Amino acid sequence: MTASTGETPSRKRVLLKVSGEALMGDGAFGVDQKTVERIANDVADVVRGGVEVCLVVGGGNIFRGLAAAAKGMDRAQGDYAGMLATVINALLLQNALEREQIPTRVMSAIHMSSIAEPYIRRRAVRHMEKGRVVIFAAGTGNPFFTTDTAAALRAAEMECDVLLKGTQVDGVYSADPKKDPSAVRYDQLTYMNVLANQLNVMDAAAISLARENKLPIIVFNIGEPGAFGRVMRGEGAFTQIIEAA
Ligand code: UDP
Repeated sequence: MTASTGETPSRKRVLLKVSGEALMGDGAFGVDQKTVERIANDVADVVRGGVEVCLVVGGGNIFRGLAAAAKGMDRAQGDYAGMLATVINALLLQNALEREQIPTRVMSAIHMSSIAEPYIRRRAVRHMEKGRVVIFAAGTGNPFFTTDTAAALRAAEMECDVLLKGTQVDGVYSADPKKDPSAVRYDQLTYMNVLANQLNVMDAAAISLARENKLPIIVFNIGEPGAFGRVMRGEGAFTQIIEAA
């Protein structure tokens, strides 16, 4: 069941979390335009397939409050800078989606009315019912949170069927697959497995929020062209996190 203002029949509705790092391509910082275009193309294909899609975009490719705090910066101030980084990424994704002829709206948790709508839940739902891709920017609007938590929060508010986390690996592994060749990928995990074993998927606040709202999480590699569409069809590699495996 998806949240509805009652005028259009509900379709499948999903939230895709795009990490800031996913936008870097092969670079070590910032934005690779071609990668942004490719991700927008993947999103557009899923939208054209009739799915209501909303996005939460991270900012780690530009600025992370925690990293700045480790070097002495005030944490809250750093986090506000990090949230602004997500707005930059949101505007770039919006532009790339519009070039795919996909109507979009950026809704920001921090008010900046010249470039983005303020986040208003019922308005976001209406945008999605009209087939627009809503890009949620500025995380939760609060320091000391992450965009993973923002993704779980917005997915719950939008009553999404699933929260997809697009990362650089094709799921959750028993160890870092880049460092440990014996690492195995889990097909399915429970929220409690992730929390109890401190698996590095999403922060605990995000996992707990998803669990409380019975929101399945799918972790997949957004770096692979077309992977978003494949995962939506239940194909390819990914890890699903649910209440009971
Ligand atoms: N951030 C925040 N509150 C939020 C979401 C994000 O303060 O609700 C800040 C925080 O400093 C974080 C930065 O924005 O480091 C970028 O977000 P995140 O690290 O989650 O991005 P990602 O890892 O997905 O690229």
